[in-house]
Amino acid sequence: MHIHNLSHQNSILNTFISEIRDKRIQKDSMRFRRNIERIGEVLGYELSKTLNYETSEIETPLGISHTSLVQNDIVLCSILRAGVPLHSGLINYFDAAENAFISAYRHHKHNPESFEIIVEYLACPNLENKTLILADPMLATGQSMAAAFEALKPFGMPKEVHLVCVIGAQKGVDFVSEVFGDDTHLWIAAIDHTLNDKGYIIPGLGDAGDLAFGEKLQQ
Ligand code: URA
Repeated sequence: MHIHNLSHQNSILNTFISEIRDKRIQKDSMRFRRNIERIGEVLGYELSKTLNYETSEIETPLGISHTSLVQNDIVLCSILRAGVPLHSGLINYFDAAENAFISAYRHHKHNPESFEIIVEYLACPNLENKTLILADPMLATGQSMAAAFEALKPFGMPKEVHLVCVIGAQKGVDFVSEVFGDDTHLWIAAIDHTLNDKGYIIPGLGDAGDLAFGEKLQQ
């Protein structure tokens, strides 16, 4: 897997990441969502540099401009619900993309430390030969990403796959590196060192879905 950890470069992206982590700032849910969206825009911009381009002639009022334009047929797929603001950021830039949505949640069967991933809702176009961008803000264990990809398989074989995440744990990065093909790209804004026994990324930011959309009743 090609891992693009954008925190290795100094950029304005670090400001957005620091704001979603900062417990004094992150509780402003509108600002939290907007920061995730801005991170999606930056990750999408970086990802766009690896897509396929062809030169097109663009007619201006004064002449012809030769401009190289993206040729890929892109499908943006986000994992609900935390993926919604990340999806918004990506679609701000890939405005011609088709879209897919999938729900994946952790079901704690017996105790808070063990869970299985349940996929329930899925709406997806044909993926055959498309460029699939699979977005999930928090790459904790990597199991949601793998379960989502498995559920998408009946919709066709994408030509290329890009995973887009905001914060990951090293364990999740290692897991998706095993599950996805060597030619898959991972675009990620930061990788943290560990997971706690409930599967939260440390230091991470807490629960991204709750911070974006409010607390839920079920566990
Ligand atoms: N999901 C979250 O929202 N936060 C984590 O730390 C891990 C998974």
